[in-house]
Amino acid sequence: MLGVLELNKAYLSTLVSFCMLTSICMTEANDITNISTPQIQSSAKNDHLKKEEREIMIKSYAYDTKIIEDNIRSVRSNTSQDNIQKVAFLTFDDGPSTTNTPKILDVLKAYNVKATFFILGEQLNNDSCKAVLKRMYNEGHAIGNHTFCHDYKYLYPNRYANANHIIKDLKKNESVMKEVLGEDFHCSVVRLPGGFASWKNTKALKEPFKECHVNYVDWNVLNGDAEGYRKNKEQLIARFNQTFKEQDIVVVLMHDTYGKESTVEALPYIIEKLQSKGYNFGILN
Ligand SMILES: [Zn+2]
Repeated sequence: MLGVLELNKAYLSTLVSFCMLTSICMTEANDITNISTPQIQSSAKNDHLKKEEREIMIKSYAYDTKIIEDNIRSVRSNTSQDNIQKVAFLTFDDGPSTTNTPKILDVLKAYNVKATFFILGEQLNNDSCKAVLKRMYNEGHAIGNHTFCHDYKYLYPNRYANANHIIKDLKKNESVMKEVLGEDFHCSVVRLPGGFASWKNTKALKEPFKECHVNYVDWNVLNGDAEGYRKNKEQLIARFNQTFKEQDIVVVLMHDTYGKESTVEALPYIIEKLQSKGYNFGILN
């Protein structure tokens, strides 16, 4: 069982190796010169936080993704032991959008809660979306990699994970984010479109992920905002309550892209519910 202290210890040791290894991965990423990426507009200013400043800022609430993923895969239900520190990770996929992501950031700010955003590179095709990315970075949220294209046929032909395509696409996404957040930016956390557990042959990703110093994470709770028909706030809350079983570690899957207005509306309830059950909020690193 992992309390905050143990997790933070693990995080610190990972941070040391992360700092040592980032330069290697950056070299690899820089070698991909044949990938075309949208160019940042000249009006975008280099006003993001420095890497060192951000690392100090997030230190107390950033957790090692691998430890969290290992924990949620073990299908653990509530132990309600007093010495267990419960941690919740709010995660948002497919953004940033200029409609819902800023509203989600406003809600998070009002509750002083941090979250993890899994960025879809295709969304970063204009200055407004790039500014939203910069805002989430500067406000201390985690930036995850959700691939550039989100194209199941390209990433998982016949449902088999294609490691070459996936790594190439993740690097393409990261290079777009580097244009906004600086060359020293590195995405250490990945969420595969559709989830890691949904595809065949994902073992082929083990070594490439290691080489790129990334870890994946799925989820163990969701609000259902990407399941079937469009849901209203009450339906999202009902789906959250159905999947939330007071697990010690909670990773909530949500979406902040266009059309997800109900997700914004349901978010205060989800935060308040988790707070009332004694959860702290963390980000994935
Ligand atoms: Zn997605």
